[in-house]
Amino acid sequence: MINNLCNIYEELGISKEVLDFCENVLAGLKERFEEFDKKAEYNQLKVIKAMQEEKVSDMHFNSSSGYGYNDLGRDTLEKVYARVFNTEDALVRPQITCGTHALALALMSNLRPGDELLSVSGKPYDTLEEVIGIRDSIGSLKEYGITYNQVDLLEDGSFDKDGIKNAINDKTKMVAIQRSKGYQTRKTLSPYDIGDVIKYIKEINKDIIVMVDNCYGEFVELHEPSDFGADMVVGSLIKNPGGGLAPIGGYIAGTKKCIENAAYRLTAPGLGKEVGASLGLMQSFYQGLFMAPTVVCGALKGAVFAANIYEKLGYKVVPNSTEPRYDIIQAIEFGHPEGIIEFCKGIQGAAPVDSYVTPEPWAMPGYDSDVIMAAGAFIQGSSIELSADGPIKPPYAVYFQGGLTWYHAKLGIINSLQKLVDAGIVKL
Ligand SMILES: *Cc1c(COP(=O)(O)O)cnc(C)c1O
Repeated sequence: MINNLCNIYEELGISKEVLDFCENVLAGLKERFEEFDKKAEYNQLKVIKAMQEEKVSDMHFNSSSGYGYNDLGRDTLEKVYARVFNTEDALVRPQITCGTHALALALMSNLRPGDELLSVSGKPYDTLEEVIGIRDSIGSLKEYGITYNQVDLLEDGSFDKDGIKNAINDKTKMVAIQRSKGYQTRKTLSPYDIGDVIKYIKEINKDIIVMVDNCYGEFVELHEPSDFGADMVVGSLIKNPGGGLAPIGGYIAGTKKCIENAAYRLTAPGLGKEVGASLGLMQSFYQGLFMAPTVVCGALKGAVFAANIYEKLGYKVVPNSTEPRYDIIQAIEFGHPEGIIEFCKGIQGAAPVDSYVTPEPWAMPGYDSDVIMAAGAFIQGSSIELSADGPIKPPYAVYFQGGLTWYHAKLGIINSLQKLVDAGIVKL
């Protein structure tokens, strides 16, 4: 390697031994990286095409305030999202505060008292437990008389079709599918497998609304679950589709009816999509969406790099070093809290922002165990930026994701290994 490069890694605290180990792993990943580049190229063109078709222009970056009536930038952005996700309509707003909010909105606006929500991908993401009322909480679906049922994935990570058929009843109004694994060590579901189960569900009852929690999945594949019949795909703009530039926001893309319901719930009955000022954020939303395929590509390279390093060192990694990718998350099971903590220190120490702070486990709202989070992000909590987190409970897995650039992701991963080596947890 070029001497200068070795020197600057050394200046950043990386030993020659750790760097050599990582570079050796990297040398074997050329083909994987090429595949990610091709997918990113396709998705980049998909986004540009949607923007061209909607005649995006610099006037769309203008700000609106107050009620935000006739905000052309906002309305056009929603049309761009609908094109990208191949849906009838979309709701993309800074007033949707985060991914959990977007999901809660999709659920609460499309379910009514007496309806049942059925999750067919097992336990939903931790923060949704309180939304649904699996853990009691103020304002949950349960409080409104909306019941919940769940079918777990089979041992091999696939959908339990018989279980799903048995669980669907007259009250089943909506089926929820979570694409990404969240804080679990199951497989992430592919848009193709999701499409297959949607077809199956619609054959049982075509009126069931299928909602997909698409968090962390956007632009990883050539297709999205909405290409295969999902009535709603839902996600956060401080993850993939915000491209690291959107400072807040969430999206729901879906059928006209579902989006109308969501809009009336987000604002108020009678107001719907008509109000909601864009507050000067439009350029970051458009430009972030434009950047997203490239950013996701860098994050995928980081995830595969980490998987290959830690698998080689004997740890269980999900997905493993060679499996196809359907989200940007990489789980590494350390089996003890120290592994998670040292890994997170490495990610934190490699950040452009707040690199000097030491992450520690704490009782975060919405989670049922202590969680440690590492992020030195430009946008607070942004997990399309290089970040790692893990609940301090068995199997003591760290979940690592993001990186606005591949080079930053690479440094973060190398530094995580350095910390584990320094702490005597890993021997090379
Ligand atoms: C991140 C995430 C959420 C929640 O998003 P927040 O923005 O953190 O509220 C929901 N589901 C999945 C699968 C996620 O990864």
